[in-house]
Parts: sequence; C-alpha cells; structure tokens
Amino acid sequence: MIELRQIPVLRDNYIHLLHLPDSGHTIAVDPAEAAPVLAALAASGWSLTHVFNTHHHADHIGGNNGLKQSTGCEIVGSDQDGPRIPGLDRRVQEGDCFLIGHTEIRVMEVPGHTRGHLAFWLPGEQMIFVGDTLFSLGCGRLFEGTAALMWQSLQKIRALPGETRIYCAHEYTEANARFALTVEPDNADLQRRAEQVRQYRRQGLSTVPSTLAEERACNPFLRPDSPSIRARLNLMHADDVGVFAELRRLKDVF
Ligand SMILES: [Zn+2]
Repeated sequence: MIELRQIPVLRDNYIHLLHLPDSGHTIAVDPAEAAPVLAALAASGWSLTHVFNTHHHADHIGGNNGLKQSTGCEIVGSDQDGPRIPGLDRRVQEGDCFLIGHTEIRVMEVPGHTRGHLAFWLPGEQMIFVGDTLFSLGCGRLFEGTAALMWQSLQKIRALPGETRIYCAHEYTEANARFALTVEPDNADLQRRAEQVRQYRRQGLSTVPSTLAEERACNPFLRPDSPSIRARLNLMHADDVGVFAELRRLKDVF
C-alpha cells in the first residue's frame, strides 16, 4: 500500500510525495521547491529515489536540482522536453511502462497545456498524476497547444476507470466550481461537489484528489457532450471540440 503526503507550496501548488514501503522507494511529483520536500523526507524518514515531472513550468521543476544534489534521486520526464527539465535522467514517452519496486508506472502524453506534458498513471494503485492538464472541476490553460489537442489529451484521461484518483498540481477547485456553475447550473452532482469544496476550503482542507467518476459527472471540461452545457452555450450542433474550445475561452475571460 502506497503512502502519500501532499505538500502545499507557493500560492496554490501541491507537491505529492509517494512512498513504497515494500521496496523503500520514494517519489516526488512536480517538486516546485526542494526545501519543503527535504523537510517532509526528514520528518518521515523516507529517502528520495525519484522525481517525476509532468511538465517544464517553473512551479513543477524548481526543486529538481536541489533535490538531486541532496539525495542523488533520478529525474523522470518527457523525452520531448529534454532541455527544459533540469537534471533529466530518464526520458519517457507515450506508452512507456516501468516498475519502481513492485509498482507499475504507465506514461501518458497529454499535450495542450505544454507540448511535452505527461501524466503518470499507477493502475495498480488507482492513482494518476496529471500536473496541469486536468484540475478538479477545471483544466489547464492552452499555452502550447490547440483546443483539439487538449481535448484529445483529456479524452485519454476520461477513459480510465472511474475509481481512479486524480492528483492535480494546484488547489484551484473553488474558483473552478464558480465557473462550472455558470455553464451547468442545473447539474445536481456539480452543486453537491461545489458545496463540499466550499466546506473543505473553509476548514483549510485540500480538495485534491477527486475521483475520475466525480470529474466525469461535474467537470464541464470533461462534459462538452452535455446537452445542458450545449444549450447554455447555444452550441447544440457543434462537435465536442467546438464546445470544449468555447468552454476554455469563456474560462480564460471569467
Ligand atoms: Zn503549468
């Protein structure tokens, strides 16, 4: 059974620290900074063996060099992003599958937010680390890709088993809920999730992870086929990409 620590850093980032007790490996996903990870390692007695980077943005790789210097960990990232990921040791791509200890890691390429964006799926643990591609009730901005490319990426994630827990890299859920309610106000699942999120945040609790089943029911960016969203946007006859693109455009100016 994997042990997981969620480390809130910067304004709204999460670094996830995973420990595999049977093999002794420890993985830091998207370490924005080294110091909070080193502090968590010291507190837990875990030794860092790997860093996984979903993409090259500074708030996901800022701790790479410091962690490598302090621990000698191996850094895993996108083959396409070689020069943009400090200290990259193992270059991975779509479909790659490898073991850390006895835990299977599957690599998915999910471009759109950046062109080299990856997701790391642990099917045996029903966990996926999605960086800035999918957020709870939202999705990443399109910095290096089109709406069509991002929609393709989101569909790959959407097709995974519903019980998969979605670990994204930011606590954006409350603001995302406000937008989601403007495009699908009559969605009862979304209303319930938005209320839960408000309560969690009022208590200072994290809203990450959610499950994929919850996101499929509530997240407008996974629901461009929803008749209610289509009616709201006056896009009854558009294709899914067209509806997704309009949702992303509206969120950019929300
Ligand atoms: Zn980013």
